[in-house]
Amino acid sequence: MVADTSRLAPEKVVGAELIDIYRKVDEGTRLSFEDGVRLFNTRNLTAVGYLANIVRERRHGAKTFFVRNQHINYTNICNKFCKFCSFYAKKGGPAPYEMTLEQVRERLMWHREVPLTEIHMVGGINPRLPYSYYMDLVRIVKEVRPGVHVKAFTAVELVQIAQIGKVSLDQALADLIEAGLDSLPGGGIEILSDRVHHELFGKKLNGDEWKDVARAASKLGLKQYATMLYGHIETVEERVDHLVQLRELQDETGHFLTMTPLCFHPEATELEHIEPPTAELDLRAIAVSRLMLDNFDHIKSFWIMNSVPVTQMALWYGADDADGLVHEYEITYKEGEFGNKKQMLTYDNMVRMIEEVHREPVERDSLYRQIESPTAAAKTRLTPIPLAR
Ligand code: SF4
Repeated sequence: MVADTSRLAPEKVVGAELIDIYRKVDEGTRLSFEDGVRLFNTRNLTAVGYLANIVRERRHGAKTFFVRNQHINYTNICNKFCKFCSFYAKKGGPAPYEMTLEQVRERLMWHREVPLTEIHMVGGINPRLPYSYYMDLVRIVKEVRPGVHVKAFTAVELVQIAQIGKVSLDQALADLIEAGLDSLPGGGIEILSDRVHHELFGKKLNGDEWKDVARAASKLGLKQYATMLYGHIETVEERVDHLVQLRELQDETGHFLTMTPLCFHPEATELEHIEPPTAELDLRAIAVSRLMLDNFDHIKSFWIMNSVPVTQMALWYGADDADGLVHEYEITYKEGEFGNKKQMLTYDNMVRMIEEVHREPVERDSLYRQIESPTAAAKTRLTPIPLAR
């Protein structure tokens, strides 16, 4: 399935076109903006993957990390109306919901038998929810799942929480940390470009505001994840600029754990006319992220969004993390299409997915500490996962 290019001379793989970038990668020299643009534009995807794999294996060898996690999307009511979003409640679209704290508790109980280590909670910007709701959300998770890591609230939600509570962002973060918040997910900015912000998500934070939230979180000791939504109206240059800006912010704060390139799903959005990203772009986005983000330890392939087969390939194109088991992910889910909302891999499925492409599965916690070594061979068959693409 995966070509072994390790015995070939680098010149044969990258050709004259990219040999200068190969030399930089070999020496550990930081790539420039122009290098990033060339890596997105070259037709030689194999070379881009080969270069990214050098960095991936230098950092992690064959290790591929995953976490036992559950996602909870506590409300889909949102007043930001982002054009790329199919999740928020709208006429002719998803029906509005707002989980009560009891419903959140019930949701947490659904997978009580699975020894989860991470709960990932994000939702829409719902002005009806009071300040105390967010603290209680975090407390309920810790009550039902003592010791679990709570990764919750994008920068946009955090600003909303502070506004609704009429407190400073620092105070809101401090209150959430006291309630049990452990880290922040990466979403909320999509692409650090004023043009794309204006055209697709003008009601959300802009890039500078998003960075201010990241800086505030890092000062309070919170770790954070980063993302890049690609495959909509952004240009190649805007993608690379996004990566360069993340790299600069990481130089400054050092608090980002992982970067996850997220492919755009146009179904049921205002951008339905746009063709979905191809597997080729999925792999390229992961590989270029790995090459440009020399100060990020981990690059994740989120199998829910780019599919299990692409994630398997991505483990040879720069990704060292396959996310996790993920229960009930609703952000890119098309209601009714697959009959239920469960998008998950069993533990054995996850191990098998990684081992099938000759990588070494490593269960981690949310801070990338190894939990245990999965048994060498998972016996169960990999169950096909119905995904929305
Ligand atoms: Fe709301 Fe987030 Fe969807 Fe934007 S992406 S409309 S903020 S739920």
